[in-house]
Amino acid sequence: MRATEWKAGTNPIAWKPAGDSPCPRSRSSCAPAALDLGANERLIHFMAEAQRVTHAIMEPVAGPQYWPFLLQRARISGGPLLRLGEAVFHGCSAARGFVYIKPNGDVWPCPFIEVSCGSVREKPFASIWSTAPVFHDLRRREQLLKGQCGECEYRRLCGGCRGRDWAITGDYLAEDPSCFIHPPEDDGQHRSEQ
Ligand code: SF4
Repeated sequence: MRATEWKAGTNPIAWKPAGDSPCPRSRSSCAPAALDLGANERLIHFMAEAQRVTHAIMEPVAGPQYWPFLLQRARISGGPLLRLGEAVFHGCSAARGFVYIKPNGDVWPCPFIEVSCGSVREKPFASIWSTAPVFHDLRRREQLLKGQCGECEYRRLCGGCRGRDWAITGDYLAEDPSCFIHPPEDDGQHRSEQ
């Protein structure tokens, strides 16, 4: 579908394209399903165009580069406007505003991070939520992120897709291999043509 075919007045309140779905929820099968750098960039550009013709609020799932893209396009990379953006947008929600509880009781930070942080069949959810080390890592990701994400001026409002990192690298704190804002140094050749 073209972005301009997205008609105002027929929209849901929010539309959440998922950069990693459909995902069969295991590392070996999630990795091939994850968008590569070029596909991620095309999706973000599509969303920005679609947002111009719709009242629905575009908020990508597994596409946290949307917010840095909008700010970079507006030439905002620091100062009070970036601080304002950080107060509104929080990027990857894994372990921050999002959690995944499996039918067997296992608690994961998100459906794409296959790391059990405990089971609600064995201890209260509140205890898992407040004490699991993985949750603590993800909540202070600004201090722990690696590679380009660790150096990035947008890491507070983006943080990269932690699920994609996990699926592809096995490290939920690694740089996002599909970031086109600051592409991984050995993967810049995958940037899409615009
Ligand atoms: S380098 Fe990481 S934090 Fe910065 S824009 Fe890319 S994915 Fe987001």
